[in-house]
Amino acid sequence: MSEMRKRYSELRSAIDELSNKLFKMHHSHVECKKGCDLCCMDYQIFPVEFDSIKEAIKNEEIQTGTKENGSCIFLKDHECQIYEHRPIICRTHGLPLLFMNDEQWELSACELNFTNFDDEEFTAENTFPQDKFNSLLFVLNKNYLNEIKSDHGEFDLIPIHKLID
Ligand code: SF4
Repeated sequence: MSEMRKRYSELRSAIDELSNKLFKMHHSHVECKKGCDLCCMDYQIFPVEFDSIKEAIKNEEIQTGTKENGSCIFLKDHECQIYEHRPIICRTHGLPLLFMNDEQWELSACELNFTNFDDEEFTAENTFPQDKFNSLLFVLNKNYLNEIKSDHGEFDLIPIHKLID
């Protein structure tokens, strides 16, 4: 297996571990549940994620939905059909995400969550550091492109729906 795809898998596990910890910490302020699909869009992902997911689902019978209105093709009957293999962006849905925007720290969370939570209580310890993990994923993807001698540029992204093309 490609070394960078192995590292991608490790990064995904680290993100799952932190996300699960934060979901437990905030469980009383999070409305996320099976059947809620507000976050499920046709996201664009890096080639290292794209190739890893493609490989993971290649022998599975995947049901698909429609990508009308920008919806994710893997959303069917309000459920993710590739849940175990879903991209990193889908693993932090609903959490309070901390990131830098126009040189200012910004916090984002689903409109259904944290409706009764004082923003002042968000700290570095109870939010998801999105920039940190995005930077790690960016570098990992860049190394992957070198590893497989890909024609993709380091900023190229691929829409999720192309996984079924
Ligand atoms: S891959 Fe699954 S969790 Fe991610 S947007 Fe698509 S349906 Fe939703």
